[in-house]
Amino acid sequence: MIPPNRCPLCCGESLRVLEEDASPYRVLRCRGCGLVYVDPPPRGEALRRRYGSEYYAAWVTRQKTGRKRLWAERLRIVESLVPSGRLLDVGCGEGSFLVQAQRHGWEVAGTEISAWAAEHAERRLRRPVFCGELQHAGYPPRHFDVVTLWHVLEHVAAPLPLLEEIRRILKPSGRLVVAVPNVNDRVMQVAYRLVKRRRPRLFSLQDREWHLFHFSVSSLTRLLVLSGFAVVGFGPDRGVVERSKRLINETAVILSRIFRRSWYNAILMVARQA
Ligand SMILES: [Zn+2]
Repeated sequence: MIPPNRCPLCCGESLRVLEEDASPYRVLRCRGCGLVYVDPPPRGEALRRRYGSEYYAAWVTRQKTGRKRLWAERLRIVESLVPSGRLLDVGCGEGSFLVQAQRHGWEVAGTEISAWAAEHAERRLRRPVFCGELQHAGYPPRHFDVVTLWHVLEHVAAPLPLLEEIRRILKPSGRLVVAVPNVNDRVMQVAYRLVKRRRPRLFSLQDREWHLFHFSVSSLTRLLVLSGFAVVGFGPDRGVVERSKRLINETAVILSRIFRRSWYNAILMVARQA
């Protein structure tokens, strides 16, 4: 248990307030490990309420085709690591990734805290999707060849117990694939400032997406190591559907290569049991 006023990742006490308003939540940055997080973490019902049908509306309508391509690309990455077997997608949403994986012969499983999305995914997959947090799903130990967390970890109030559970149910030869937004997305930040004339906010009660954690390559690595994983590799996650944002991201990917930095929009990290 982390005491209050301590960083949830490194227990550091030197914290800088990045954002504070009239809401009960503020955004802090740990000077020790660089983790950026919402304090206190919103929990339980306050979080579950966020993920009704309206959250997924654009994904199943106007972004449907673009997202299909995105999932195909992500599946290709997974299959370059592990060619086949049992795959668990934690926070599987409306099930689009699992549908494609199932078509490719994977034995699929999904968990999802949104009742609407879990039902939607179940209908598409014709198999049960666990509605709730992974820790309550009760999967057997060393069961899965691949576990994926596609832009899920930043939404979770307590990432450490989630990752520890993944470690328990992952085969020793298995792979964990994590994608999260990158807090050091410098190129997008510059573009945002030029267009909107202000810096992007990290958290607001009005946001469609509540990101409770903002990771960098180094803080994500630290979290994975703390959970008993070893990082196998990392790079940009190209999961951007909108054309203008995709263009900015591709620019960021090129600049990151030239300057040997990680300035892209989102991080894709692969880990195995340590
Ligand atoms: Zn810290």
